[in-house]
Amino acid sequence: MIITKDILTAAAQQAGVTEIGAAPADPLLEMKEKLDRRQAENRATPFEEQDPAARLSPADLLDGCLSIITLALPYTPPGTLIPPMESNLYGKVARCARSIDYHFIIEKKAGEVVEALKKITDTSFKHKILADRSPLLERELARKSGLGLIGENCTLINRRYGSYTALATILVDRQVEPGPANNEKCLSCGCCREACPAGALIEPYIINPHRCISYLTQAGGPVPLEMRPLMGRHIYGCDLCQEACPLNKQAGLSPYPEAAFVFFPAYPLLLPLLQLTRKEYELTVGLSSAGWRGKTILQRNAVIALGNCNDSDAIKLLALLLENDSRPLIRQHTAWALGRIGGGRAVFALEKSRLKDPEEVVKKEAEQALDY
Ligand code: SF4
Ligand code: SF4
Repeated sequence: MIITKDILTAAAQQAGVTEIGAAPADPLLEMKEKLDRRQAENRATPFEEQDPAARLSPADLLDGCLSIITLALPYTPPGTLIPPMESNLYGKVARCARSIDYHFIIEKKAGEVVEALKKITDTSFKHKILADRSPLLERELARKSGLGLIGENCTLINRRYGSYTALATILVDRQVEPGPANNEKCLSCGCCREACPAGALIEPYIINPHRCISYLTQAGGPVPLEMRPLMGRHIYGCDLCQEACPLNKQAGLSPYPEAAFVFFPAYPLLLPLLQLTRKEYELTVGLSSAGWRGKTILQRNAVIALGNCNDSDAIKLLALLLENDSRPLIRQHTAWALGRIGGGRAVFALEKSRLKDPEEVVKKEAEQALDY
């Protein structure tokens, strides 16, 4: 029995989901060339499935898979956003990362859709829910399902919520009435490319993640030197190419009450973020969608943001971190930030680190910072 669009809509309504659609589980062969080019140009990231074939074959992930249901979950929390007045030392957090981890909400909603479908059709079927951590090309599947168009900034743009949605897919061994696919084009206005401070949108529909601030704030290890100044105050994600998009001007806020629980504010103060204990982290940022990335990477980003704030009020804490923090990654970026801010006290701390730090990589960073 085919699951019709009416049945899918009824199930989605029961689960409180408005943006839902379906696509056939056919291989996405039309995307092969794009993926091959991404590999050939070394633009693939460790976060994605490295075998392009696995990204193109949804049916390999569930025995007998016939259709893919896609959901778009709006995540923008309510509330007016203004930077703090009391200090210039604040960072910026992307919309997707502020509220309670959206994976919980979208996985729960997808599960409710499945239960409602089983009840309405009075049948059982095999299914698999994948949210975010999926080898599949979710945006393309969402486009094929009719959930939105793909913009030149490589986002899926939904007519109600713009590009501020998280996506999930439900693989099912049932036929679900598909689409219609959204074949519309965006305005091709170029505002997204102009707004990108890092030149990551190398041409329409092509992004180089290794230059993308959003990716850099999530990638592990040291951030390449030349990218650090471009990161500005961004400590998790970056919305600039989305905020510049005219198609996002009327984008709605998340209707889900859970999204109102903000654990990582839009403009967090950076010095307190660097002093969070593990427990404090777990009870705040750790509960947001940025929490998976862990305290060290977020603090690394906060240190870079402090360097970019270029405010001598940060020197005291940065100098303490450079001397005492047990993590070489943090000391390394702290040396860079101190070099960027400069001044006698920063130079003193850097000289000491250059001579005494137990790690070569930190010593070298301090030496470079002294040359700024
Ligand atoms: S997220 Fe930021 S850095 Fe990445 S492409 Fe968009 S504007 Fe550029
Ligand atoms: S900013 Fe313009 S070019 Fe970029 S995605 Fe939006 S409409 Fe398309």
